[in-house]
Amino acid sequence: MNAMNDVKPCGTCKQGFSGLVITALLFFAGVEATAELSPEEASMARFVDANTERTIDLLERTVNVNSGTLNVEGNREVARIMAPEFEALGFDVRWSALPPETGRAGHLIATRDGERGERLLLIGHLDTVFEPDHPFQTFKRDGDFATGPGVIDMKGGNAVIVLALQALDSVGALDGASITVVLTGDEESPGRPLEISRRDLWDAADSSDIALGFEAGSVVNGIDHAVVARRSSSSWQLEVTANTAHSSTIFRDEIGAGALFEASRILNTWYGELRGEQYLTFNAGVLVGGAEARIDDTGERGGASGKTNIIPERVIARGDLRTISQEQLEAARERMRHVVTGSLPGTQASIEFTDGYPAMFPTEANYALLAQYDEVSRALGYGEVVPFDPGARGAADIAFVADRVDAGLCGLGPSGSGGHTAEEKIDLRTIPKAARRAAVLMYRLTR
Ligand SMILES: [Zn+2]
Repeated sequence: MNAMNDVKPCGTCKQGFSGLVITALLFFAGVEATAELSPEEASMARFVDANTERTIDLLERTVNVNSGTLNVEGNREVARIMAPEFEALGFDVRWSALPPETGRAGHLIATRDGERGERLLLIGHLDTVFEPDHPFQTFKRDGDFATGPGVIDMKGGNAVIVLALQALDSVGALDGASITVVLTGDEESPGRPLEISRRDLWDAADSSDIALGFEAGSVVNGIDHAVVARRSSSSWQLEVTANTAHSSTIFRDEIGAGALFEASRILNTWYGELRGEQYLTFNAGVLVGGAEARIDDTGERGGASGKTNIIPERVIARGDLRTISQEQLEAARERMRHVVTGSLPGTQASIEFTDGYPAMFPTEANYALLAQYDEVSRALGYGEVVPFDPGARGAADIAFVADRVDAGLCGLGPSGSGGHTAEEKIDLRTIPKAARRAAVLMYRLTR
């Protein structure tokens, strides 16, 4: 299917007319010749190719509107650009605003009811990690590539959702299908409490059978990977208090060890006892301690003061915890708590855990869904798609619905590099690739 990749965007095409025709003929012949594709599927594949430039325009327009997670109006604006795309396909579209106190915009929800086949939930997000004060703000195209905030994470994925749905519509396959699209406005840093910020996603999942996440696809050693599992991500905060006195009296029975030795004991014991378990990691990210220590509401900034001759009274440390399942998370928390209770003399410690992203466990149903996606990919001439290492992918919105649907698969978006950095880049050729795969997969799932 390299022929498709060689088709240049119309505006920059340097080929002569005959070259174009030959390329097109080869390309169309390739699609028709693929025995495993039905005529409708082959037709959708051609539709995707003919409409890719329009999709790149949509991507450019959404990337050029800043929608950092905290930029409420920016997220609302990106939703305004996306909404007509779904309305044109017969979806009921609504904006679900989050309460102002969450500091998050809300979610765009598009639904199309039907009775045929599996009920699908398609997940994307409007927000990016780049707030308005960041220098990285605009879409810049260079041939088959483009840079810009959110080009792969994940305005490119949103654009692929639209293109794939348009392809389904082009053969009348949306009629009778049950499809819900949720584009959240706070994926990169979900609003709190989660019971409010993830309610719409949960509701959509409760009336769906299969969740498809359009976060960026991964290419490792030239082979495409999709995501059947994601680890949970949550945080912990450790607080240690201790008797204070002149340093010359440290370790006396009535004085004790001080808060810094106790904090060190806890962290070091965790390191010795919990480290190395498969799929479990925990990080200590920030620590302040001394005669006095504080950390602000963001949990990311703080300060401390102390003297070499004063036994320190207070330590605060914060970090994260990542697991492949809820069971592993609970077990790790229990072991961490146990270590915390074994205080050194003259010290007390407490730990608080805050829920974040749940895990998406690598179920057999997820692997079966991947097998279907792999089959689709081969039928389209793109070669195999294999599972990404369950321990290697970060958190994403699909994890919030993983245990509410029968099966889920993520990483169905276009590919690129440099996510969450000012080097974020998309390979634009992966837009039609991802859209064709998604369209054919959805076609088959909704038969
Ligand atoms: Zn993302």
